[in-house]
Amino acid sequence: MFLMNTYSRFPATLVYGKGSWVYDNSGKVYLDFTSGIAVNVLGHSHPKLIEAIRDQAGKLIHCSNLYWNIPQMELAELLSKNTFGGKVFFANTGTEANEAAIKIARKYGKRKNEKKIKILSARNSFHGRTLGSLTATGQPKYQKPFEPLVPGFDYFEFNNVKDLREKVSDEVCAIFLEPIQGESGIIPATKEFLKEARRLCDEYDILLVFDEVQCGMGRTGKLFAYQKYGVIPDILTVAKGLGGGIPIGAVVVNEKANVLEPGDHGTTFGGNPLACRVGVTVMKELTKEGFLDEVEKKGKYLLEKLSRMKEKFGVMRDVRGMGLMIGIQFSEELENRNIAMKCFEKGLLVVPAGNNTIRFLPPLTVEYGEIDIALRILEEALQEI
Ligand code: PMP
Repeated sequence: MFLMNTYSRFPATLVYGKGSWVYDNSGKVYLDFTSGIAVNVLGHSHPKLIEAIRDQAGKLIHCSNLYWNIPQMELAELLSKNTFGGKVFFANTGTEANEAAIKIARKYGKRKNEKKIKILSARNSFHGRTLGSLTATGQPKYQKPFEPLVPGFDYFEFNNVKDLREKVSDEVCAIFLEPIQGESGIIPATKEFLKEARRLCDEYDILLVFDEVQCGMGRTGKLFAYQKYGVIPDILTVAKGLGGGIPIGAVVVNEKANVLEPGDHGTTFGGNPLACRVGVTVMKELTKEGFLDEVEKKGKYLLEKLSRMKEKFGVMRDVRGMGLMIGIQFSEELENRNIAMKCFEKGLLVVPAGNNTIRFLPPLTVEYGEIDIALRILEEALQEI
């Protein structure tokens, strides 16, 4: 085995996927309620994605940002027109999108005054693994081995208006927030909290950054979670689902946050025609009439059935989420990883998360019958455990 020991993996080698299903190299089939951690929004082997990749691969895969390319311009337009009309920078991953947002925030702040460099983020948030995003990730367990971190960061308690107010000052240039915290167990922000964050940002001339790497791209039944809350950020970071499986990240900024100039920031691969062409395909599918309404309906169906299951199983402490981003928190006597493993053995893939939670993140194209199968497997797993 030539791989570094960076992951504790489930014991399967996946070789093929179709729709909501994946197969391992022994031929065993699994119902995929992970979507590669909120990535495969259109499921596996979607004909439109295959067609886009084939066609673009035969035209132009990469050309760097020394030149313009058509898919990049098209995708920027789609992202802009489907959000708050901003400008777009393309990266390759979620953590890179957040790194770009950190740099934008610092430049924005320093233009106002040299001391305006502080970045606030929530405890138990997750923004990525590179040093800037890791510093924004308010979780010492991920940070400790890699200290010293990037200076100028501070943390507030998620959904605690009073704490956020106390941390805000004229020295703050940005507040980072996940509208729905993903890695820490699907914890939605309250509307009150996001509204107050917006108000404080306006009062203190701070950029509000929403990290929608996990909760964006249709997960919640809206294209972006902020559209559910009616609170608009200055900067939006996107990745995961945008490429439907091909790596891509993006930062959307409003006019005020559009501060980067040539030389400030860049990437070799970001915005390459292949990834952007796939992004265009994903965006067009998700914004087709009725698609997101269906996500919302399927999400409600799933949440309702899980809530009923919760009444039957005392170990299910909480069921929460929006759309097809749902977390099930278990009481301490049952470890989430064991439940995920039991589901795995029975042919259902789910993602463990913080707070002793497992996440249901099926493809947005999941069918009702598949939701029923997932629920049945979870129920059996809980009965056996
Ligand atoms: N932000 C959020 C909210 C995430 O959930 C993740 C990944 N789980 C990231 C950033 C980092 O994304 P990536 O792994 O693509 O760097």
